[in-house]
Amino acid sequence: MESTPTLFAPASGFGRAAIAVLRLTGPACGPLLAALASGCPPPRRLSLRTLRDPGSGEILDRALVAWLPGPATYTGEDMAELHLHGGLAVRAGVIRALAAFPGCRAAEPGAFTRRAVLNGRLDLTEAEGIGDLIDAETEAQRRQALRQLDGTLARQVAAWRARAIDCLAGAEAVLDFSDEGDVDDAGLDGALLTRAAALRDEIAAALRDDRRGERLREGFCVVLAGAPNAGKSTLLNALSRRDAAIVSDLPGTTRDMIEVRCDLGGLPVVLVDTAGLRETEDRIEAEGIRRTRARMASADLVLRLIPADAPAVAGPDCPERTLAVTTKADLAAKPVAGLCVSALSGEGLDRLLDAIEARARAEIGGADALITRERHRAALARCVASLDRVVAGAPLPELVAEDLRLAVRALGEVGGHVGVEEMLDRLFAGFCIGK
Ligand code: GDP
Repeated sequence: MESTPTLFAPASGFGRAAIAVLRLTGPACGPLLAALASGCPPPRRLSLRTLRDPGSGEILDRALVAWLPGPATYTGEDMAELHLHGGLAVRAGVIRALAAFPGCRAAEPGAFTRRAVLNGRLDLTEAEGIGDLIDAETEAQRRQALRQLDGTLARQVAAWRARAIDCLAGAEAVLDFSDEGDVDDAGLDGALLTRAAALRDEIAAALRDDRRGERLREGFCVVLAGAPNAGKSTLLNALSRRDAAIVSDLPGTTRDMIEVRCDLGGLPVVLVDTAGLRETEDRIEAEGIRRTRARMASADLVLRLIPADAPAVAGPDCPERTLAVTTKADLAAKPVAGLCVSALSGEGLDRLLDAIEARARAEIGGADALITRERHRAALARCVASLDRVVAGAPLPELVAEDLRLAVRALGEVGGHVGVEEMLDRLFAGFCIGK
């Protein structure tokens, strides 16, 4: 009997629906289908079958069944899909029958993709691409996820790794040579160091990308800042056309941050409403203000809101990331220069959205990013640091070889060729069940 458990999970959403898809992977798929659907259907096509509880023989549903024998499957194992009627009782009944079948159990989030990685069907960056594709809310995010799923990053890193291994082999050869006693002749050849330097420069250049890929995943962050009653919450509602923030006349109502994710021309933009900036005795509000300042410091763009009916206030802290916006334009006594909006009349809102979109496009909408996660960045930076030491010319071939080994290892981590289990745990903590 095989020890690998067979996993099952709903692959479609929860709740009542026309169809509910259950997905299975593992060695018991064949026997299970045989028992459940009175014989294994022909492979790789949908067959209409009556499903019976293998224990009691009771009819559970009439459903489309797919039998997908491995290894040419998503997980690399035998797989099956059950396209059930989407009623809650149907699904519960089938799940009960599956759970009772020997060797079968419910899957954890990301379990299918985990098996795909462990069986060599996907590398870790491709698995991340799948996670990002499921999470993608805008076109630009979808394109980036598909590129990564397509192996763009995996191929680049594999090519770098092959070159690092090549350098390492060169250094190891020198070490072997010096072991044979002919130490005097055993210098590291200059060509090897030149190759290591070229590789380092290439990876370092890829790292100088303003974190475009990560920022596209996370969304371009726009913080609405300004004194209490400047009109932040009202503007956020008007901009997002959603009722996300509480609007009130009492200064200091917006105690914590409220985020609204929007799609501006295919780009993900996160609008953040913040606690008003003012001196306060209220401890909760003071905490809100502390967080506001932190969020403003890390924002991609700060909208500094100044009401048309209030006296001008001090200028922005960081002019290049700040847009000054006059709010409550309907209350202005005379025409106001620059960006000027009224959440009440709708005046200027489209211009402001265009201005935000233009900024977002300039910063995260440009050339395709290769690096999309801090994890990739950290590993590549470690690789560059190791290659830096190689290029700086360590006095001993042993040290050069060790640094090259570290460089190869760091590159291997990106694709999950090293320390894969730990990284899988981290990645799949955020995955859907059934993927
Ligand atoms: P916040 O404290 O900066 O979030 O400000 P709010 O959005 O809560 O708005 C404060 C007050 O200004 C509320 O009474 C709003 O109705 C009012 N207000 C907001 N935007 C406008 C506007 O465009 N025109 C006018 N006349 N009043 C506004």
